[in-house]
Amino acid sequence: MTTSGASNSTPGTLYVVATPIGNLDDISARALKVLGDVSLIAAEDTRHSARLLQHFGIATPLAACHEHNERDQGGRFLARLLGGEDVALISDAGTPLISDPGYHLVRQARAAGVAVVPVPGACALIAALSAAGLPSDRFIFEGFLPAKTAGRRARLEQVKEEPRTLIFYEAPHRILECLEDMQVVFGAERPALLARELTKTFETLKGLPLAELSAWVAADSNQQRGECVVLVAGWQAPEGEAAVSAEALRVLELLLKEMPLKRAAALAAEITGVRKNLLYQAALARQNDA
Ligand code: SAM
Repeated sequence: MTTSGASNSTPGTLYVVATPIGNLDDISARALKVLGDVSLIAAEDTRHSARLLQHFGIATPLAACHEHNERDQGGRFLARLLGGEDVALISDAGTPLISDPGYHLVRQARAAGVAVVPVPGACALIAALSAAGLPSDRFIFEGFLPAKTAGRRARLEQVKEEPRTLIFYEAPHRILECLEDMQVVFGAERPALLARELTKTFETLKGLPLAELSAWVAADSNQQRGECVVLVAGWQAPEGEAAVSAEALRVLELLLKEMPLKRAAALAAEITGVRKNLLYQAALARQNDA
């Protein structure tokens, strides 16, 4: 690792360093070593990060790298990297680039042939998923939803039938309306979990169906404070008669009055596009109920 500002023909390394999301003990030994060894730390908010570095006795200089200057100022960091210095990128909390700045700098560095090395650590979505008890083999991260109801519901509609576990970040002052919109779009019964203030004193993980979760948050204003991640179980295709639309059942019932069950199911399938077997099962259930 290169230290100080000496020019060098070999480019330095850009380290993408995760910092804690609350509990400072979550910083890794490797993160501390890298932050202490690099020439410069590119930070989302230098004042915020100065407190973190001070806590760990690290005196490496800081320079701002936030969403407003990242594209333009990236060249400044790149020049230092190309001059042979190592630079660390950090954000206010957790893993840089994950709903945080850093994407442009990482892209520019890679395009310039600079080695980009991750130094992994805390990340709120992964911490929440690891303790949620929702399927974790496949999941999607949607980041922050639009702030207004119309935009938020439109985005939720796009993932309404997504079978993988859904993960969202949300601001505390919008958590209630967010859960209410989720209930409208995904349905009252869809399992969900609110992970709030992870790794901090008031850490709360509450798993309930959406309607109950939203009522629980509405009833306790403390649950509308702090930082939160919302996880929602993926969509499950309805089975049996629930998978057959009301219109398909109406067609089936009309045909059952005119012809034998098997023929009625086959014809209803052709008319409605619903699977023949599902309609056959629905017809059988109707016959048994009669
Ligand atoms: N880069 C961060 C990460 O790796 O998770 C995320 C940064 S994003 C600007 C901030 C959002 O992350 C918060 O609004 C919240 O949704 C989530 N978050 C961060 N820290 C959290 C915590 N301790 N508990 C719950 N959610 C947290």
